[in-house]
Amino acid sequence: MTERRAMVARYAVIGNPIAHSRSPAIHAAFAAQTGEHIEYGALLAPPEGFRETVERFRSDGGSGLNVTLPFKEQAFDWVREQGGVLTPRALAAGALNTLRFGADALLGDNTDGAGLVRDLQERHGVALAGASVLLLGAGGAARGVAPALLAGQVQGLHVANRTLARARELVERLSDARATALDWSRIAQAAPTLVINATSAGIAGDGLELPDAVFAGRPFCYDMVYAPRATDFLEQAQRAGCRQRADGLGMLVEQAAESFFVWRGVRPATGPVFRALREHAA
Ligand code: NAP
Repeated sequence: MTERRAMVARYAVIGNPIAHSRSPAIHAAFAAQTGEHIEYGALLAPPEGFRETVERFRSDGGSGLNVTLPFKEQAFDWVREQGGVLTPRALAAGALNTLRFGADALLGDNTDGAGLVRDLQERHGVALAGASVLLLGAGGAARGVAPALLAGQVQGLHVANRTLARARELVERLSDARATALDWSRIAQAAPTLVINATSAGIAGDGLELPDAVFAGRPFCYDMVYAPRATDFLEQAQRAGCRQRADGLGMLVEQAAESFFVWRGVRPATGPVFRALREHAA
């Protein structure tokens, strides 16, 4: 047992809530496909107990973590305090979803943006260059994807958040004339070609209240949330006339593959894993 533990690298996803995370199944599939010897679990951290939970996992010999809501910004601050290395995409976001421990320096990375862009462009055929994007939310996920959308040459990025100050903070951090903060009450005034839901509404309590005008006639609406059936956001998008829609399952698989690469230096094939999860959930 001790010998086996020494050979197998241990990873997990940390968040709250965490029970329904698909990340353990995705990484188990990547490990089986690539022959990498890893174990991947789920860690529930109490709302005030992120640091303690991470530090315990690390001192117990853990090799790395994925970080999910609501801890992505705290994870960024923690790496900085520990004197760890932050990748350029983590620095641009001010939030991270990937931690790597081990013999090298502590590393903090953010693979959400790469995951979203790959899913949009390669799986759904969405052209980002020249697109006008309405990004709903300004939490850890929105921070992660905003720099990648700008790097994808979008023409404009409107960030709308229930708490306007957080949207302004994100836009300030981006420091790019194409990005603007939009008051939630004026959300229907944007005329985007791509609407992205990066809020945790529904998971964190109340549902998302949006006027139909947000969706009417839009070419593409994307919900970062993934569920076996269409989410409320995607149902409203369809009813209100958004032409093409997708949930965040593809992004989940793509950001996971990017994290796997950061940890193991091996890039798994995402197509078969995505299809298996979709079929399993149907
Ligand atoms: P977070 O840091 O906790 O941020 C939550 C965001 O949701 C904040 O902007 C918050 O606004 C907003 N919000 C919550 N309830 C709302 C409501 N009722 N109405 C309007 N806005 C509301 O969470 P996160 O890490 O950014 O995650 C956000 C979502 O993205 C989650 O559903 C997560 O599962 C999903 N996600 C998916 C993937 C994927 O791979 N598919 C990857 C990352 C994240 P305030 O600032 O006003 O509180």
